[in-house]
Amino acid sequence: MKRILIAGLFHEGNSFSSLVTGEASFAVARDEAVLAKARTSNAALGGAFRYLCEQPVTLLPVTTAIAPPGGPVDDDVYARLRSEIADAVRTSNPDGIYLDLHGAMITQTRDDPEGDLLATLRDAVGSKVPIAASLDLHAYVTAAMLGSADIIVACKENPHTDYDEAGAKAAELLMQLLEGAIKPVTAAIWLPLIIGARMETANGPLARLHETRRELIARSTNLLDISIYNTTTLLDVPNGGQCITAIADSDSAAAHEAVETLARAFWAARDEFTHELPSLASVMADLRAGRIAPLVILGDQGDRVLAGTPGDGTAVLHELMTDWPDIRALVPVTDADVVRAAGRVGIGESLRSAVGGRFSEGVTPVVADWQVLALGDGRFVQEGPFLADEPAELGDTALLRTGNVTVLATTLPGFTQDPQAFLSQGADPAAFDVMVTKSGHHFKLSFARIGRCIVIDTPGISNYRVGGVPFRKRRPIYPEDPVEITELASHLFWSAATS
Ligand SMILES: [Zn+2]
Repeated sequence: MKRILIAGLFHEGNSFSSLVTGEASFAVARDEAVLAKARTSNAALGGAFRYLCEQPVTLLPVTTAIAPPGGPVDDDVYARLRSEIADAVRTSNPDGIYLDLHGAMITQTRDDPEGDLLATLRDAVGSKVPIAASLDLHAYVTAAMLGSADIIVACKENPHTDYDEAGAKAAELLMQLLEGAIKPVTAAIWLPLIIGARMETANGPLARLHETRRELIARSTNLLDISIYNTTTLLDVPNGGQCITAIADSDSAAAHEAVETLARAFWAARDEFTHELPSLASVMADLRAGRIAPLVILGDQGDRVLAGTPGDGTAVLHELMTDWPDIRALVPVTDADVVRAAGRVGIGESLRSAVGGRFSEGVTPVVADWQVLALGDGRFVQEGPFLADEPAELGDTALLRTGNVTVLATTLPGFTQDPQAFLSQGADPAAFDVMVTKSGHHFKLSFARIGRCIVIDTPGISNYRVGGVPFRKRRPIYPEDPVEITELASHLFWSAATS
């Protein structure tokens, strides 16, 4: 029986957030709890687990850790998690390793911790033990990662409905490599391009690219996977462009041709990644006129915790209180200070306090008299389908009301794209006309069954506009800089299987 070690580390970084992602933000599972989680997971871990359970293998669960997107991970927290996984690899001598990674983590001092983690594990096991990882398609894929792993595959859809398929694919290729059935070679290409809009894969330019990807796979007998990485917008990292990888069985020409074909099409579409979103005012006018019915769930494009912001933006809150005071609204805001203050006065009591604007530049706090409706511990399990059954942490919470507006104040930025973030803390979305989530894509999956989901044009760093984000390391890059590509081959990377 082959012994397969399983571990995971999942975080998407925002280089421009002043809020360090610490231990409290991570939901961690260890040992048998990893398998218990995998059994019900519809994320990559679950997909890999279900595939491996059908194989003649023994599973060696170690540690999985997941935090909402946010500022750089605390260096010590990352180092401890890396040690946990690397120590387990050294003591257990597995035959193969499967990792459930996001791929766009940053720490206080590292731009590419996944590259560091994979290199550490490669050092630990030597060249003969295959390592496979599944990633989020918003990953920052680096040569260091590709050089240390045998298999790296992404999910293909945004919003991510197919994490489980990416996990299963990585596990399947890992097993085929272990059995000697394939000899994978990987080609990768990076385009010096930032995209910050039209990032969904079911429509627009990315839908066309993925159609080409599927055609290339269907036409070829040797291509095992093609992944298209739309590297998350708010990372400031070297060579942080869009990346395309192809894995082929002993056929470097097929891998090369696939990434080059897709790179040409991607670069040709580079000016199509702009969008026109409706304003809050236009959506509210539609609601008041009966053109749309409550419940309306708004995606706050400028303050997306799902893109790594601190979630302390107040633009929508301000506008709702000023212009639409008769509308019953529910708004999440990260603000540990007001949560503590509410805890001191207690449920049913009132306090005058500022809310929001503690971390993000240019955000004005909302000052009002708030009634404390509920206090919570911020723990919940997501109902999904995005990240279904994943535990999540908001830190302590306070539900505060002024007029018709209710604020869910959270200690930590959290996964508010899931209804359970609100229900678990005492706020039932059904009691409102309008509610806000700090998400631009994934809330549509989890809220579609209870209302109308609309992303609105709001100020903030996660509403990407050219020149609006102070990139330093991620340059030159289009459209921030006038970049021309004369020779695609100079952006190419190759790696061959280690075994
Ligand atoms: Zn993603």
